Amino acid sequence: MKNRNLLMIPGPIEFDPAVLSAMGAPTTSHLAPNFVEAFGQALERTRQIFQCPDGQPFVLAGTGTLGMDAACANLVEPGDRALVVNTGYFGDRIGVILERYGAQVTHVKAAPGGHPGLDEVETALKAGGYKVMTVTHVDTSTGVLADLAGLAALGQRYGALVVADGVCSVAGEDLRMSEWGVDVAFTASQKAVGVPPGLALLVAGPRALAAFKARKTPAGSYYADWGNWLPVMEAYEARKTAYFGTPAVNLVFALNVSLGQILQEGLQARFARHARISRAVKAGIAALGMGQVPLSDAIAAHTMTAPRFPAGVNGADLLPQVSQAGVTLAGGLHAAIKNEYFRIGHMGAVSLGDALATIGAIETALAACGYAFQPGAGLAAAQKAYLA
Ligand code: PMP
Repeated sequence: MKNRNLLMIPGPIEFDPAVLSAMGAPTTSHLAPNFVEAFGQALERTRQIFQCPDGQPFVLAGTGTLGMDAACANLVEPGDRALVVNTGYFGDRIGVILERYGAQVTHVKAAPGGHPGLDEVETALKAGGYKVMTVTHVDTSTGVLADLAGLAALGQRYGALVVADGVCSVAGEDLRMSEWGVDVAFTASQKAVGVPPGLALLVAGPRALAAFKARKTPAGSYYADWGNWLPVMEAYEARKTAYFGTPAVNLVFALNVSLGQILQEGLQARFARHARISRAVKAGIAALGMGQVPLSDAIAAHTMTAPRFPAGVNGADLLPQVSQAGVTLAGGLHAAIKNEYFRIGHMGAVSLGDALATIGAIETALAACGYAFQPGAGLAAAQKAYLA
């Protein structure tokens, strides 16, 4: 008996055994040669995963929220204007962080499940004077995927630094920092990067670093100040040591293993695998008569799915039944629709088997809740979509 459920929430996810075994190795000194090599390599690989050859990677002990905090603390000075392209809970959060560092924040928002049009964002940018524009690549509260390439191009055109929250996207959705003009992107280890929670990964492009170096006031956060971490990251990448705060040694070893696996799979192959699994899950959900939070397929993420509870099923009953059937899923997060939907994460090492187990567990749970449907319909549709 495994005696544990399949973990299909939008992070933390199921981790590869090689990654977990790296976590469990005896902890070395953060100055030990094997750690210096692993950290240096992990930094080089981070730059590759973010598709930002001229970017500066930062790997910090903390969560995805530290990535948000670092981006805002280092780019914003009191009085700066910031535009938040807001598709849910994490857009709201970055707005609060920007304000904490003294920014005047404007949100361009859509209804839950929607995405503001490029024209609306352009109108806002035209009003002028934005130093920073933030985009949540995939808002985990809605499963909405932003047109980051289109938005970044607009940000660049109007002179705003483009910040992408890639916590639910990096290594699962294509995010081309350099090519698209994204100045800062960040993620957290526990999502598509495939490492247990505890690391924030951030890459700052040349424009962002120049803006940081041109600050008139110190960064508003001591721990997140790039000035403290830059010499450390540069040293380890040069296979030397430097100290500001003790690195999360075991997590960094695990990160290097996972990043190696990601690059071995190949980024484009990995994105295609995520898209294929996503199509299978979404087809299974649709065949069971459930809608989804994203208003169209074109703006639906490939790293997660946000199904709406079907009519007649009490949402509070369904997820415990799914868990009983062996799969752990997540409830709603967006305050306005919290009790109307649930969330399935399918990223990282996710396989067709995981997707089918999930759809199967949902079918079992729907039956237990007395919902009328054709048993097996979700599984058949998922397999058909996967093979299509
Ligand atoms: N942004 C997004 C899009 C997220 O999904 C999350 C976590 N769910 C965060 C930021 C915050 O990350 P963490 O929980 O690791 O602080």
